[in-house]
Amino acid sequence: MTGRLIMVSNRIPTEAEPSGGLVVALHDCLTAQGGTWIGSSGEARENPRDGLYQIASGDYDRYAFDLSREEFDSYYLGYANSVLWPLFHRRAELMEVQPGHAAGYLAVNARLAAMLKGFLRPDDVLWIHDYHFLPLAACLRELGVQNRIGFFLHIPFPVASDVPALPEADALTGWIAAHDVFGLQTQADVNRCVILFEQRLGAGISGDGTIAAEGRRFLPLACPIGIDAKGFRAVAEASQAGARISMAPDQKLVLGVDRLDYSKGLVQRFEGFGTYVKTRRDSDPKATLLQIAPPSREDVEAYQDMREALDLTAGNINGEYGEIDWTPIRYIRRPVPRDDLAGLYRRAAAGLVTPLADGMNLVAKEYVAAQDPDDPGVLILSHFAGAAEQMGAALIINPYDAGEMAQALSQALTMPLDERKARHAALWRSVVEQDIGWWTDRFLNALTGRDMAQVA
Ligand code: ADP
Repeated sequence: MTGRLIMVSNRIPTEAEPSGGLVVALHDCLTAQGGTWIGSSGEARENPRDGLYQIASGDYDRYAFDLSREEFDSYYLGYANSVLWPLFHRRAELMEVQPGHAAGYLAVNARLAAMLKGFLRPDDVLWIHDYHFLPLAACLRELGVQNRIGFFLHIPFPVASDVPALPEADALTGWIAAHDVFGLQTQADVNRCVILFEQRLGAGISGDGTIAAEGRRFLPLACPIGIDAKGFRAVAEASQAGARISMAPDQKLVLGVDRLDYSKGLVQRFEGFGTYVKTRRDSDPKATLLQIAPPSREDVEAYQDMREALDLTAGNINGEYGEIDWTPIRYIRRPVPRDDLAGLYRRAAAGLVTPLADGMNLVAKEYVAAQDPDDPGVLILSHFAGAAEQMGAALIINPYDAGEMAQALSQALTMPLDERKARHAALWRSVVEQDIGWWTDRFLNALTGRDMAQVA
């Protein structure tokens, strides 16, 4: 790559050495080849500064831009998180379409495009992240920018028949086609993207995997995101957190770890676990579900409703089945330090990862990486997590079916060691081979034209 790599994401990490899988991967990638990271400073600002301002420099530069209160409400809370997030997660009924929010979203994207135009040199390659910036490339093209532009959608691609629920549906294909590479988590996402272009524009996919539409040609690319698998395994090995859990020796620990979000299927998970508790045979071990779920986006109404439903379900199950020395569901609504989390994963006999819709789900990969290969736990994974495409050796379940979840729990908690080891070995292979470094390489190879034929 001759030019610089310019990365754009909603939030820019402000620490010199950021933490968290994706952020670290992008940091490493920029450190290795130099470039610039641009993102918003996060919260709404009472006195937002004009334009981009530098917040750090070193191996690469970081620039932030501020959002006003109105921009934060319309662009971030309103359109990105109350329209695009529910629609793309197949929950169109939770959309809150409000006057001014789409305009605010487009205005932030147009403002950022104008700032970027002044910044870009002809050889620079731009990599845009996620649903906050879907129209950014189209705004840049309108300003005459011809640089290579890639995009990665971290969340699911919407189902074509849901798209008309978006008032801006007619613009969506133009936003997407403005990129050179449009990265998606799974082949199923690519298929949904192809169907959208077929249905709305009659555009088909060519032999090289590209789609010609809206006066351009772009490559929809399945590029599943990974984790730093070896690093996470090491953290789990060193963590003491598992030993802090007090449980009777004949009881098993089942673990759930999620942001508190309606896409994660937490109510259904509690009901599935409740069904296991209720229908458990003598040969099935007694188990406790430890659910760690810190709240997110609390200023969006749908999140408050879900939190109440979850409290009620957990309370009902514990009230109905709990005993003086055993609580079926332990529920922690706080973030947990990363190394503690790794130790809890390692201690758990089963990882229960049951989203109703999820772009990838990194928790599934972290659970596998954290296991002791000589005595691994069993991953129970929703069919609707993007991770299910790579992780067929997990127990794949339908999260809407409490009976099936209960059966999978019984199978996981009584699984012979040989089968647990064989399943884990297959899962570990996919997690360690297709790790976070593999993901950045695959995407950038496609974007910069290296190996184009090979990845297409
Ligand atoms: P999403 O991006 O939708 O939140 P993912 O499963 O892909 O879902 O990623 C979630 C990330 O956040 C994982 O790296 C996970 O370890 C971390 N995480 C989730 N819940 C917690 C928690 N309670 N405490 C600390 N980290 C958490």
